[in-house]
Amino acid sequence: MVGLFLSGDLRSIADALATYYLKLGGEIQTEVWVKDRAALPDHRLLILDLTPKQILSIKGLNFTSSYERQLRKYRQGMGVFKVDWALSEPTPFTDLRARQAATVHIGNTFADVARAEREAHAGKVVDRPFVLFAQQSLFDRSRAPERKHTGWAYCHVPNGTEYDYTDIIENQIERFAPGFKDTILARHTYGPKALEAYNPNYIGGDINGGIMDIGQLYTRPTRSLTPYRTADSSVYICSSATPPGGGVHGMCGFHAARTALKDHFGIIINLP
Ligand SMILES: Cc1cc2nc3c(=O)[nH]c(=O)nc-3n(C[C@H](O)[C@H](O)[C@H](O)COP(=O)(O)OP(=O)(O)OC[C@H]3O[C@@H](n4cnc5c(N)ncnc54)[C@H](O)[C@@H]3O)c2cc1C
Repeated sequence: MVGLFLSGDLRSIADALATYYLKLGGEIQTEVWVKDRAALPDHRLLILDLTPKQILSIKGLNFTSSYERQLRKYRQGMGVFKVDWALSEPTPFTDLRARQAATVHIGNTFADVARAEREAHAGKVVDRPFVLFAQQSLFDRSRAPERKHTGWAYCHVPNGTEYDYTDIIENQIERFAPGFKDTILARHTYGPKALEAYNPNYIGGDINGGIMDIGQLYTRPTRSLTPYRTADSSVYICSSATPPGGGVHGMCGFHAARTALKDHFGIIINLP
């Protein structure tokens, strides 16, 4: 039985897991760029939290050419353009319920959201995009100095685009929160290229580790009943490029670990 005691933001989950792992005698190294398996300490298993493009760039993995071909066919999804703001006051949404929500999905009608997403997917610059807006400082006072606030938002954009969506995003928020732009003290923007530089898993700004369409919903990154396994029996994939895909649910890691434990140690972990 593993007891995890959590408080604070989502980071506390990662911190609690790391603490437990260290207690078991594990060692964690960060800021190490993995380019070649030969440079890693001796290991029995390698579980990669990477997308296919990066996996293919790592030397020393014993893959068949047909497996590599399948990885090369993997497709990325739309990118995102993200803006972070320092704000002088809470965002003045006209709908009072939106003033009390940690995350606000801005898009007007369902039809408008669907059209905006369709057009961005088709490679167009959408002037009224679906915007996901987060206002954590309303609920977590550690996010901003006293009486000040923070916010961030992103919208979906064509993969890899270099178009600057800052005005488009701010205008879309202003439509539903008149006066928002006057509250901006400072901003920082992340286009798809900057996001990929920050985390190479976000290829072309795709934060979901590959497109989630019918062809890649369950069969990601390859067409297999257990896509966590690779053609090298000591290598597994646990990233959002495996089912059930992008998100902070942890299930890709859970299924990959469960598969590796069964294959190499005969340990069966039943699903609840
Ligand atoms: C702004 C933003 C908002 C989001 N909002 C939500 C949300 O509200 N809800 C939700 O469910 N999901 C959200 N997501 C998506 C979610 O964060 C991702 O889908 C998820 O984190 C992907 O997990 P992952 O395990 O595939 O890899 P990642 O979390 O991308 O972790 C991979 C790690 O590996 C490192 N790495 C890459 N290459 C190498 C290498 N060669 N050597 C060593 N290390 C390497 C990377 O730097 C990174 O730290 C959001 C993402 C972003 C960017």
